Amino acid sequence: MSTSASLRSARSGPSTPLDDPLPPPAAGIASDSGDAPPSARPTGVVVSPAAFFERLQQSAGRPASSLALLIVDISAFHSINLAHGFAVGDRFLEMVGRRLAHRLRPGELLTRLGGDEFGVLLSDVFDSASAVAAGREALRAFSDPFQLNDRPHAATAHVGLSLSPEHGRDVRTLLHAARAALRSAKEAGLDVVVAQLGAREGWTSAALLSPEVSERGTVSGREVRDGLLRGEFKVHYQPIHNFGTGRVDTLEALVRWRHPARGLLAPGAFLPAAERSGLAHVISVRVLDCACDSLRRWRARGHRQLRVAVNLSAQDFRRDDFAGTVASTLERHRLPPSSLELELTEHEQLDDDRAVSQAAELARHGVTLTIDDFGVKYSSLRYLHRLPVRALKVDRSFVHDVGRSAASNSIVSAVIGIAGKMGLRLVAEGVEEVRQMMELRRLGCHIMQGFLFSPPVPADAVGGYLDRSAPAM
Ligand code: C2E
Ligand code: MG
Ligand code: MG
Repeated sequence: MSTSASLRSARSGPSTPLDDPLPPPAAGIASDSGDAPPSARPTGVVVSPAAFFERLQQSAGRPASSLALLIVDISAFHSINLAHGFAVGDRFLEMVGRRLAHRLRPGELLTRLGGDEFGVLLSDVFDSASAVAAGREALRAFSDPFQLNDRPHAATAHVGLSLSPEHGRDVRTLLHAARAALRSAKEAGLDVVVAQLGAREGWTSAALLSPEVSERGTVSGREVRDGLLRGEFKVHYQPIHNFGTGRVDTLEALVRWRHPARGLLAPGAFLPAAERSGLAHVISVRVLDCACDSLRRWRARGHRQLRVAVNLSAQDFRRDDFAGTVASTLERHRLPPSSLELELTEHEQLDDDRAVSQAAELARHGVTLTIDDFGVKYSSLRYLHRLPVRALKVDRSFVHDVGRSAASNSIVSAVIGIAGKMGLRLVAEGVEEVRQMMELRRLGCHIMQGFLFSPPVPADAVGGYLDRSAPAM
């Protein structure tokens, strides 16, 4: 790697004057201890979007240029506006801008692209590995919490990247590619995604998946086993908001693999191999243990009613000892069974007698069973009949177009109706936009999760999120 990932290291070079300096935080609203003192000036240049794109166009057109365009998108920015108001939201964006600016080198550019997005233009980035490193470095601007209204706020972001000349030589193409990469990052729950050249149709979502995800077929069971032995699997948590109670009442545990060479892998990249090699159960047991351990700590910190939801593989339910394993894990962490929710996706293996009897035993203990991704498979209703289900999660493919397509509205309404008639809790997943949230509430769904509120985050970012969101909802 060359000097390419230039956001990487601490700055020591001379300061470059700002074209458009970001103002210091207003007294009383947001002073952020993680920021540089007001006298220290960023070494990069903060410019208007017009100037940013002009420079990008000029540089990308030069024969020997090697550029990276980064789009840094702040997660759940909307929830800050909701919780603290627009003035604090604006101050928060200024703080983010300042932190990003301090990571730039002379000649590198930063701009606010609008909304909660920032654009960064780096030079001398030659390959995807350097680009990923630069993206991760940019995200270090989010490592320390931000002080909002005198309370720490842990923020996260996703980065989508495109490279020139590899991905294009003009603003439009590079922006389009970086945006598609950003979309893939959000969808796959990855921190940084570099655009990949699509086939004939140009930039397609499938073609733009990060190397990690597009290599999903190449992860072997042996690698998964080695990763487990080396302790590389981690659990991230995504909050589930209940507008009825005004609280985050559950956190969904989602497994991640911090692969030494490939970076952070989403479950889609390794669960199929784990299933094939019989390791899915080992992952489930570890995630369950880890989630219970974290839950115990959050409850001790005052979030006494908080619950955790753990995703299971169909294999888990086919083991005669599974209900016993769950019960002993809860006991070990001194948690009541009602604090645990187990999420199952529809699968033909769930239909056999062994699975049904394990599910019944778990339900007898008081553990809640949820059908995840409800509505995606034709047989959903059958499971409602066979298994002691207490909750449904309406799949994000239906949530996506709610409020925009009559068909999606009808499907969501129908699922809300089924849940209501059967006395089941209903959760909408994949809520990304205010429009979707409003429409879901209008239709009668008041429990939701999605990037609008927060992406899945590491355990140590959860405590602050819970403290912040409780009174605001
Ligand atoms: P799931 O249980 O339906 O989890 C929700 C998935 O949607 C997560 O993807 C999450 O990151 C993503 N997501 C959340 N909010 C949004 C949003 O607003 N928009 C979009 N586009 N996506 C959103 P992830 O973490 O990649 O997990 C994928 C699936 O892998 C999960 O789907 C679950 O079925 C499975 N999985 C995750 N963790 C585990 C685990 O520990 N054990 C097992 N057996 N399966 C797991
Ligand atoms: Mg789930
Ligand atoms: Mg789901």
